[in-house]
Amino acid sequence: MRKFNFSAGPCTLPVEVLHEAEQEFVDYHGAGMSLMEMSHRSAAYDEVHRGAMDRAKSVFEVPDDFEVLFLGGGATLQFAMVPLNLLTPDTRGGYVDSGAWGKKAIADGSHHGEVYVAWSGAGDGYVRMPRPEDVRLEPDTRYLHVTSNETIHGIRFPEFPDLGVPLVGDMSSDYMSRAIPWELFDVVYGGAQKNLGPAGVDITFVRRSVLEHTNRELASYLRYDVHASSASLHNTPPVFAIYMVGKVLTWMEQRGGLGAFEAESAKKAAMLYEAIDGSDGFYRSPVDPAYRSHMNIVFRLPDEALEKQFLAAAAARDMVNLKGHRSVGGVRASIYNAMPLAGVEALVELMGEFRADA
Ligand code: PMP
Repeated sequence: MRKFNFSAGPCTLPVEVLHEAEQEFVDYHGAGMSLMEMSHRSAAYDEVHRGAMDRAKSVFEVPDDFEVLFLGGGATLQFAMVPLNLLTPDTRGGYVDSGAWGKKAIADGSHHGEVYVAWSGAGDGYVRMPRPEDVRLEPDTRYLHVTSNETIHGIRFPEFPDLGVPLVGDMSSDYMSRAIPWELFDVVYGGAQKNLGPAGVDITFVRRSVLEHTNRELASYLRYDVHASSASLHNTPPVFAIYMVGKVLTWMEQRGGLGAFEAESAKKAAMLYEAIDGSDGFYRSPVDPAYRSHMNIVFRLPDEALEKQFLAAAAARDMVNLKGHRSVGGVRASIYNAMPLAGVEALVELMGEFRADA
């Protein structure tokens, strides 16, 4: 029996996809070997690879002037590749410090170019994103880096700021749960291991005009143009992760695509926020309501002892991985695309019963 897995990532994947992969695992389509044992230059893998790329472009509704790249190193490598590829000695990167992940992007970026903090939510404890007028851009800003959803603090940009400089977006934790206003972005990136598949591959979308200015002094793997011109087959790609992402994207396409998952995410999140807000203060969301995440719903109980009991009561009903990140505590329900509505309903039911018994 499968549990309801509320993990923040790696996380629950569509069970249909897991079964399909299981069927194909040992003997891939009669080849007498698994896909993992084949060359990444084989015809069978090529079909998987290009299929996943095409599907990423169609399911994400990517315009023609963007390239899709499948890269190693997770979202974390993009913290470096973004400034390495976009910044020049006379330009700099502005960053929104919206929490743990925004901070890491700034720290890593600062090794590879001039970066500055254009807004910080640290003073408020990361309970909201900036309004457009809060962001302070400095001269010669090449891009503004935003984390569309801060996985640990449970906050999201309801809309992205249009400030006249291109945005770079870390969408690791809300990929394929919201439409992307492509006209605002030069680069969008994220690890797959939440809404899109297993860990091991990062999906980066780069506006093609960016590739013309890539810094040629970089090692080949660090160059966006190298990956774009080799269809992400410059070196051996993470084949299993890409194969799984292709399957998850097909699964999403069959269920109505981006619009359907955006609506479903909003609905699942609203159910949990209603349970929190309707609890007479027993459950408490620290997040400013306008910036509440649709993916990671964080909340507190009256004290830590009750939080511990709540997590144990959830585990007894096969709802697991609800503990908040160690840096902030409390409860965090990550409800990515593969979390069925039944999982959210079960959690809402538990919240009601636990409160009544407390
Ligand atoms: N950005 C965000 C918003 C994340 O949630 C994570 C992972 N939880 C990362 C970046 C880092 O991703 P990776 O582990 O793939 O490098």
